[in-house]
Amino acid sequence: MSDINMETENTWCPGCGNFAIEAVTKKGIKKIGRNKTAITAGIGCHAKIIDYVNVNSFYGLHGRPVSLAVGIKLANPELSVLAFSGDGDSLNEGISHLIHAAKRNSDITVVIHQNRNFALTVKQFTASSPKGFVSNSSPEGNVEEPLNTLEVANSAGATFISRSFSGDIEHLQETMEKAVEHKGFSLIEVLQSCPAWYDTNSYYRENSYKMEKVPKNPDKKIREWNYDGEGKIPLGVFKKQEKPTYEEKMARKGKKVSVEEVLKSKI
Ligand code: SF4
Repeated sequence: MSDINMETENTWCPGCGNFAIEAVTKKGIKKIGRNKTAITAGIGCHAKIIDYVNVNSFYGLHGRPVSLAVGIKLANPELSVLAFSGDGDSLNEGISHLIHAAKRNSDITVVIHQNRNFALTVKQFTASSPKGFVSNSSPEGNVEEPLNTLEVANSAGATFISRSFSGDIEHLQETMEKAVEHKGFSLIEVLQSCPAWYDTNSYYRENSYKMEKVPKNPDKKIREWNYDGEGKIPLGVFKKQEKPTYEEKMARKGKKVSVEEVLKSKI
């Protein structure tokens, strides 16, 4: 076994966008150092990244990679902590964890493998599937409006919001590095094709464009693409804001208090 690679057989489908995420993750971890990084994952195809990258890691329950990452970072603020999650994992089961981690400005990076369906369980619709999406749980077409992932993170107060595409590995690497370097909660939504159940490769390739700089009005830019086939898809960094992190705020409050002091307090 070499440093970063595991000997585990890779069972992702050929052409899956997860391969690009795995490749840039390995490259990034090599730069930061394996003993200075920890990764978490939930349940779904994305989560197999834990089996393929040789680094401190934690396989969580469905929808829980973000809360695990928050805990790891709080326990050891020296680590770079990345939470890998699918759209079903983070926007269905785990949406409250995503919202609260963004609200706290926990200094972690959340990587959303956005394939817009529950792929591991063979195609059910998720919160970000398009309207009309035909799946095993919506055989006559999804009747719901898709949820804008970036809008959710933005309304919760995320201090770094970005989007990339697994078909453009250079852009993905560059955006992921910026997200990890950011001090505070950072989110990177990676649009990825799922050739088995929802092949979106050509659609993203033909309809996305790269933003040259961070927009002055992130709210407007974030709404430019509605996840439903209308509008061009902006890629890059939408928002970058400096704010004290959750860990910094907790460290300031972290002075030991005796039981007597608590009993005497007026709280
Ligand atoms: Fe990738 Fe879809 Fe295959 Fe899962 S089912 S490994 S997401 S292509």
